Amino acid sequence: MRKDRRSSSARRGWQGCLLVVGLLGLAAASLWLLWHFRDRLIPGPPPLAGKLLHIHAIDVGQGDSYLIVTPEKKTILIDAGPAEAGSKVVAFLRQQGIAELDLVIATHPHADHIGGMGYVLESFKVKNFLDSGQEHTTLTYRRMLEAVKKHVGRLTLAQAGQKFNLDNGITLSVLGPRQPWLQNVSGSDLNANSVVVRLDYGQFSMLLTGDAEDETEDRLLTDGAPLQVTVLKVAHHGSRHSTRERFLRAATPSVAIISCGATNRYGHPAQATLDRLRRLDVALYRTDLHGDITLTTNGQEYRITPTRQVAASELWRGRQPDTANDSGDEMPRRRAG
Ligand SMILES: [Zn+2]
Ligand SMILES: [Zn+2]
Repeated sequence: MRKDRRSSSARRGWQGCLLVVGLLGLAAASLWLLWHFRDRLIPGPPPLAGKLLHIHAIDVGQGDSYLIVTPEKKTILIDAGPAEAGSKVVAFLRQQGIAELDLVIATHPHADHIGGMGYVLESFKVKNFLDSGQEHTTLTYRRMLEAVKKHVGRLTLAQAGQKFNLDNGITLSVLGPRQPWLQNVSGSDLNANSVVVRLDYGQFSMLLTGDAEDETEDRLLTDGAPLQVTVLKVAHHGSRHSTRERFLRAATPSVAIISCGATNRYGHPAQATLDRLRRLDVALYRTDLHGDITLTTNGQEYRITPTRQVAASELWRGRQPDTANDSGDEMPRRRAG
């Protein structure tokens, strides 16, 4: 009898232990599941209501390409990436259901901005083409001019002060370049005279700076250009030669987007530029890490949807140039790219 009692209490002890181990295991598994699927379990903000403006930073590798689609489907393409990204840009536009482009802007004639332009001009009806007006000696530039002549017919020169009224009160204002063009700058004159535009929709605004140089930023500040914005398309792929402190103090963006390639020999984005942006406490997005990035706004609030999530440790890490010339310039004193 005593033996039975002993064995049954031992059994109960074992059962208790197993229960505790089981419960602990269950708790650990639940915690793991909660952590693993936290993004799906924690509901994100509700979708935006109202008339929506979409801005897409297309991942074109080392280069720039931005697509703007207004609520009434007005379409603007700013740069078309390098030649090897031309088919990607065309496919991206088709995915968005785009059949024609109201305005195409070539910020400046470097190949990482206009290389894909020929594909775009052959694939879509383009109503207006805005160019920096700067001439370049390359075959890429000559081919773009030929394609504009053949497919668009005419080319409009960008000049600070031009304003495009889109729909729902949305405006696209040209802030640069202006005459006389910047010359003999410390970097590239072609970069320095990039077309700089400002997009406004209600309380939302965005500045797209092409490959602006330090001198471009100084001129915009001297000109008293409206620089304060919600979102900054960081100049020149995050190069250390622009996006200076004084310019950032005027722009005070909440969000910064950098277009650059996952493999680029220029060392874009530079750690110094990332550090300057980080001190501003901006939300940073990079096409080399996030892939295609879509920004949606109703003129009051905005949402940003990247293709991939990126850890903060990776996000704020700059790249190193492959050569001593971190500007990537092929010719002396000229910074290309
Ligand atoms: Zn560039
Ligand atoms: Zn450039």
